[in-house]
Amino acid sequence: MAKEELECSFCGRKKPETSLLIAGLDAHICDRCIEQAHGIVLEESKQSDNSELSAELMLRKPQQIKAFLDEYIIGQEHTKKVMSVAVYNHYKRLLQQPTNDDIEIQKSNIIMVGETGTGKTLMAKTISKMLNVPLSIVDATVLTEAGYVGEDVESILTRLLQAADYNLEKAEKGIVFIDEIDKIARKSDNPSITRDVSGEGVQQALLKLLEGTVVNVPPKGGRKHPDQKFIEVNTENILFIAGGAFDGIERVISKRLNMQALGYSAAMSEDTVDKNNILQYIIPKDLKDFGLIPEIIGRLPVLTHMNPLDAKTLRAILTEPKNAIIKQYKKLFSMDEIELSITDGALDYIVGKAIEYKLGARGLRSLCEEILTDAMFELPGSDTKKLNVTKTYAEQKLSKSTLKKLKAVS
Ligand code: ADP
Repeated sequence: MAKEELECSFCGRKKPETSLLIAGLDAHICDRCIEQAHGIVLEESKQSDNSELSAELMLRKPQQIKAFLDEYIIGQEHTKKVMSVAVYNHYKRLLQQPTNDDIEIQKSNIIMVGETGTGKTLMAKTISKMLNVPLSIVDATVLTEAGYVGEDVESILTRLLQAADYNLEKAEKGIVFIDEIDKIARKSDNPSITRDVSGEGVQQALLKLLEGTVVNVPPKGGRKHPDQKFIEVNTENILFIAGGAFDGIERVISKRLNMQALGYSAAMSEDTVDKNNILQYIIPKDLKDFGLIPEIIGRLPVLTHMNPLDAKTLRAILTEPKNAIIKQYKKLFSMDEIELSITDGALDYIVGKAIEYKLGARGLRSLCEEILTDAMFELPGSDTKKLNVTKTYAEQKLSKSTLKKLKAVS
């Protein structure tokens, strides 16, 4: 065939009409057809991505969700159960077929109340890992009303889009974890919060998002700008999980419990109340008394609490979860063919220090890091192939000043 007769085998365009004509065995394809075909491939893979997602979501029943959470999260049995049901119902709602019975399943957004470091973020992360849906973690303290210095609430969705690699369909089925939701409580009801009244403005702005609406989201973040292109994100099927320490809410709960005990409906008398874990008695009204507006509380219908971590739980966190801290260090050392072992005494010592210095679960990692840094620096490349960390070894590596430093940063 003479050169000028070459043409695209797909669209029939002659070579001079194309920018590029690629030759195959018995055929040719032009640049335009390649682009078109590429578009089809992308579309197809997106669709199969989404059907994979649905299949994944349908597969897990609440008990299986909980079993997955058990692998990563120690204790917090009640919250794991509540979360499993909420997540299951949320995705059931998402996958429901339209019917004509007028029954509309409401969203099961969740609010978790618990001290910092008790695993709230871990809970959200583990669920997103299990479902293989994108997760955006945002700190409510950076959110401000439009017009103030800070981030608009839309930035929450910008991050979700980024987490979903800008696959809109995936983002619209994702999870948003809003941390420190308590910090946007109204000041008037809670003198310990130093934020001004704009906290309520942020709550108002969040409302729509939580309920389900179409939001214009600046894909690269930043302030809304008239010339910027927006992506329309529908938040209807996004699962929102809020978390907060709600410092001082125990007082609110205790007060209510005492009043109940005095009144006719003495639901709980003094001796049945577990004073070490007042949070377990939390009800939505307490959140309102703390300063969340009722509309926000209404849109976070699943309320649950995290238990404080006792020594037994901290000890288990060190060694038991699938990616427990000690397992991680063992792996790190084994990559240099060094066998790491830690005695029970050393583990108890670490837990003891975490409690003594109020470092919580987050502190466990910093403590291990301090104890093992010298070894991680010296042992790789040396002749030593075994390291046994005893209580004495740990004591030597952790001076008082180090502990004070850790407390200051925690
Ligand atoms: P929060 O969000 O409540 O402040 P995080 O989820 O960030 O707390 O927890 C801090 C760290 O402590 C996590 O990295 C996690 O490894 C560990 N942790 C906390 N609680 C648990 C738990 N119940 N089980 C396993 N690890 C935990």
